[in-house]
Amino acid sequence: MPRELADLTSAQVLDRVAGGTVVWPLGATEQHGPHLPLSVDSVLAEAFAGPIAEAFQGFTLPVQAIAARSLPQSGGGLSFPGTVHVGGDTLVRFLREALQSLFRLPLGRLVVVNGHFENEPFLFEALDQVRQEGLIGDREVFAFSWWSLVQDSWLATETTDFPGWHAEHAGVTETSLMLHLRPDLVTDLRPDHDRPPRAGVYLHPVDVDQITEQGVLSSTSGSSAELGEKLFSHVIEQAVAMIRDGAGLLSRKAGKKEQ
Ligand SMILES: [Zn+2]
Repeated sequence: MPRELADLTSAQVLDRVAGGTVVWPLGATEQHGPHLPLSVDSVLAEAFAGPIAEAFQGFTLPVQAIAARSLPQSGGGLSFPGTVHVGGDTLVRFLREALQSLFRLPLGRLVVVNGHFENEPFLFEALDQVRQEGLIGDREVFAFSWWSLVQDSWLATETTDFPGWHAEHAGVTETSLMLHLRPDLVTDLRPDHDRPPRAGVYLHPVDVDQITEQGVLSSTSGSSAELGEKLFSHVIEQAVAMIRDGAGLLSRKAGKKEQ
């Protein structure tokens, strides 16, 4: 049976998604230094989406790979070629309209897995606009950036000098995940930048050479496929537990489909 929503026929889709889970990966096409492809955020969001959908016998949507712009303090910014993006106002409108049509389906739960740091506020805004329109009703929504599910205890055990997620752009965690999932797309270069930028600070003008090393904001040394595999499993485990427990939701409707 197809696990991708778009592989269903129109005649099948209403029955198959009724009360069930749909997982939408949201990525980007963004520079990730000289060692990783532009597709990192999309590859990772899509890779996380598959097992999450599977755990709930749900369906995945195709990854959305053109999204928010790259900012210097969290993505190296647009001085590096290859980032293909839309402005935040366009992104909110795009997401809102896509969500409006998606919620016309009788799905019971939407999970959005975000892989691109700068997408998050626009995603949450679009979801909330759709909620305000009354299109979601009492259906469940879990939208998160994958790194938000990484436990502090995991970071304490598995990493040293963690620079913060904004600075992990193209750093040890993304490099390790890519070495685990798509080693064919990772080059041998391992640039290190010893002064990660501050989070939540907008600067102009920006000296790109001060804030990055070839588009890398922190360090890549110590990346490994083994670490990537551990991180991948950790995030999947956390995501499935959160969705299954309904963590953060006020109540669970009796009789709601638990898959
Ligand atoms: Zn990234």
